[in-house]
Amino acid sequence: MQPLGIVGGMSWESTASYYRLLNQGVRERLGGLHSASLLLHSLDFAGIAALQKQGDWAEAGRQLAVAAQGLERAGAGALLLATNTMHKVAPAIEAAVDIPLLHIGDAVGQALQRQGVQRAALLGTRFTVQQDFYRQRLAERFAIEVLTPAPAQVEEIDRVIFAELCQGVFQASARRFYLDCLAQLREQGAAVAILGCTEIGLLLEGVAAPLPLLDSTELHVKMGLEWLLGGA
Ligand code: GLU
Repeated sequence: MQPLGIVGGMSWESTASYYRLLNQGVRERLGGLHSASLLLHSLDFAGIAALQKQGDWAEAGRQLAVAAQGLERAGAGALLLATNTMHKVAPAIEAAVDIPLLHIGDAVGQALQRQGVQRAALLGTRFTVQQDFYRQRLAERFAIEVLTPAPAQVEEIDRVIFAELCQGVFQASARRFYLDCLAQLREQGAAVAILGCTEIGLLLEGVAAPLPLLDSTELHVKMGLEWLLGGA
């Protein structure tokens, strides 16, 4: 198995899910002592989050590109960038390496298309929900119309991601708030909800939600497993 590279740590709470799910997936498929061949560069998220806040996406892209190049030099045959938000700088990473970046937006878009969904709710950081890079990819490549929460709700969802979920805090109050937002988006015509932030699945694990949930982490991991296992 040629190693799959992961640029992670954004946050490590969800990178830990990637690590566990990739290994579980390989064991399910190959059995016995088989596990995933992986290379991980886990970044210190404080610095990246500060650059997001300052809007210095060029510097963030440069730092992620350096990490991706390191993984390529170490032998990775493809890359997962284990965060939705930082796919804003996917073009900078793709330009810096010769190996493919398995794009999280494509993992989500393909799943929506398979299910015949045309209108989906999107939860994520304010960057993912309000900027174009993610929604446009879903619209242009997969003809998905994305419904987003009201601006005040986006703010609270974003606050919870950085102040709680990325710090390993999963509270009933946040769960209730997210589920209320989803109920409203269902009323507006959403057929499913995209958990477009890799930590939200940790908050909503096992809950009864008003809409079917599509977890970007799980779908991205599946894409990684398809690459890793190929015809295995
Ligand atoms: N992991 C999150 C995401 O999927 C948020 C952290 C970040 O801003 O990268 O967007």
